[in-house]
Amino acid sequence: MENNETGGWIDPALPLCELHRHLDGNVRVATILDLARRHRIELPANDVETLAPFVHIDDSEPGLVAFLKRFEYLVAVLADDDACRRVARENVEDAAAEGIDYIELRFSPAFMAERHGLDPRAVIDACAEGVAEGVAATSVKVALIGILSRTYGVDACMRELDAVLDRREHFVAVDLAGDEAGYPPALFRPHFDRVREAGLHVTVHAGEAAGPESVWSAINDLGAERIGHGFRSAEDPELVQELASTGIGLECCPTSNLHIQAVERYADHPIRALAAQGVRFCLNTDDPGISAVTLAHEYSVAAPAIGLDRATVRRSQADALAMAFLSDIERDALVRKAGARS
Ligand SMILES: [Zn+2]
Repeated sequence: MENNETGGWIDPALPLCELHRHLDGNVRVATILDLARRHRIELPANDVETLAPFVHIDDSEPGLVAFLKRFEYLVAVLADDDACRRVARENVEDAAAEGIDYIELRFSPAFMAERHGLDPRAVIDACAEGVAEGVAATSVKVALIGILSRTYGVDACMRELDAVLDRREHFVAVDLAGDEAGYPPALFRPHFDRVREAGLHVTVHAGEAAGPESVWSAINDLGAERIGHGFRSAEDPELVQELASTGIGLECCPTSNLHIQAVERYADHPIRALAAQGVRFCLNTDDPGISAVTLAHEYSVAAPAIGLDRATVRRSQADALAMAFLSDIERDALVRKAGARS
């Protein structure tokens, strides 16, 4: 990503890292059309231009219901392992086109498998293969995070974890996503005991639909090293202090928060106050196939609209690398690669 394209909000001398992107929340409209044709799946439109408004959300119709309705089109076309492989490969290609150096892609094997009755283990294998194909064709470094879909309940999540741990070698971390308010983190303590025993990192969606107690529980009950969203931490000064002193960082996805109406306007986003109090964070896209944004958009449009200054955004770019589930050797290699191009 050239500096002039992003108004200087992205520092080309630093690696550009995306830590919170759902692989199945980033399916190209053209791919939805192609897969639907191939598998005879009905869509409300037959070309990219007319289908796009059904898939992309914008400020005119925000809200969780509208958001989930759009997700339907993305999972509807995951008809077989090949479709999953293709979507995974295209995610890596998209990251390369965005100038991303390192990306952590996350997905719930059970969620991706559900619609067409696929085998969650086969879905994992297909995603890993697609990523490997994408990596071979680009210079992007990729890591995978397995999601437990909490909305399916505690027992289903244990089976989903079995699948992830059966394919342990493909993952760097496990996440908990879905209905945060209905399924609090503490329910999944046994799951994350196993995750940590397997030597995997932990990140948890918390402090988005539920309040600070959910973030406390993600940290204390599940051992979260990072928090997905987490902006409602701002409601509890003690928690803000805890995050600032431990360095447990927030994966901030500003436009996604707006689109599900968790935050009404960029200017209202709590991340500005959290950052000012020393809480570590990085900028991310969440589901760019629905929000129709790039990582550069979050840096050069969302961040200034929130009121973050350049120094804070630059620090968050560096913190994304610090928060990444990488070894120091891998981090150094990314720093050298960025240094060589600037
Ligand atoms: Zn997310």
